Amino acid sequence: MANDFDVVIIGGGPTGLAAAVYTGRALLKTLVLERSVPGGQIVYSAAIDNYPGFPDGISGYDFSQAFLKHAQRFGAEVRIGTGAAGIDRDESGVFEVTLTDRTVVRTRAVIMAMGRSPRKLEVPGYEKLFGSGVSVCATCDGAFFRNVPVAVVGGGNSAVEEGAFLTRFASEVKSIHRRDHFTAQKILIEEYLHNPKVTPVWNTAVEEIYGEREVEGIRIRNLQTGVAEDLDVKAVFVFIGWLPNSELCQGLVDLDDQGRVKVNELMETSLPGIYAAGDLCVRPIYQLANVVADGVQAAVSVEKYLEKR
Ligand code: NAP
Repeated sequence: MANDFDVVIIGGGPTGLAAAVYTGRALLKTLVLERSVPGGQIVYSAAIDNYPGFPDGISGYDFSQAFLKHAQRFGAEVRIGTGAAGIDRDESGVFEVTLTDRTVVRTRAVIMAMGRSPRKLEVPGYEKLFGSGVSVCATCDGAFFRNVPVAVVGGGNSAVEEGAFLTRFASEVKSIHRRDHFTAQKILIEEYLHNPKVTPVWNTAVEEIYGEREVEGIRIRNLQTGVAEDLDVKAVFVFIGWLPNSELCQGLVDLDDQGRVKVNELMETSLPGIYAAGDLCVRPIYQLANVVADGVQAAVSVEKYLEKR
């Protein structure tokens, strides 16, 4: 049947597409659902410098396209612009996945690889000015802010990498962090702090983003002295962590207290036949190479599970 699959992979980022390469090569009839663009968040990465095998780096877009092509080469059907809206299981253990276009597909196994979304800064002005100077993507929006000061919020790898990228355009990057040091990888921090366009603003929280139709400035407060100050910036780039895209998983499989899917080393969830992989899950680290490996493991586990059945 056209709508019957061996495995449905939800999410067409690196994890889901890596899984599809393996399920396709195992001759499993594979459907990948990608609600937005193939590649997920990594598409927006200007340069990936730490994926082994690419000594000169590779853009997130090129990387994603290669993963997509590879999955398709082994026969995976990739539906772009279509997500999963619900998953049910019949008495025989077959899953019915309702798609966002309301069609229903049947499948013997599911791999959930829906990834995660950027955490929002809960301050006045964030929602109102989102897309008008407030952004979570330097690659997408950085070039709009040439020769003007911008703010970056956060102190992890994302903030430091994206902040460094913004120095290509902005006159100054005010890098606001609530601690007195960044927690990104040392090599990234070193380069970042040596960049003359970067001004770290330590021990500081953003209290408000203001402006009528676009960002005109922000109000910050030093968390040690309690002193508030206004900064004249034309954009605010927020990189303060992520939230798992696990709405679909509620009540279906076990989650941790942060909403991440609990998996074992075989990428099995609490429900047999449903596997999860990558950023959606509780993982020891969140690096591209290991979330790709998660997809591979989930695919091999599905293959073994279906063999047994
Ligand atoms: P992250 O490591 O979770 O860092 C989030 C940052 O935002 C921290 O500095 C945190 O401060 C701050 N923060 C959180 N909530 C905040 C709030 N409400 N207000 C102000 N600041 C807040 O997130 P990430 O940098 O996106 O990285 C996520 C994962 O992806 C990590 O495992 C990282 O290694 C990986 N990653 C890797 C690369 C790479 O290898 N090139 C690139 C990007 C991401 P506190 O420390 O005070 O909590």
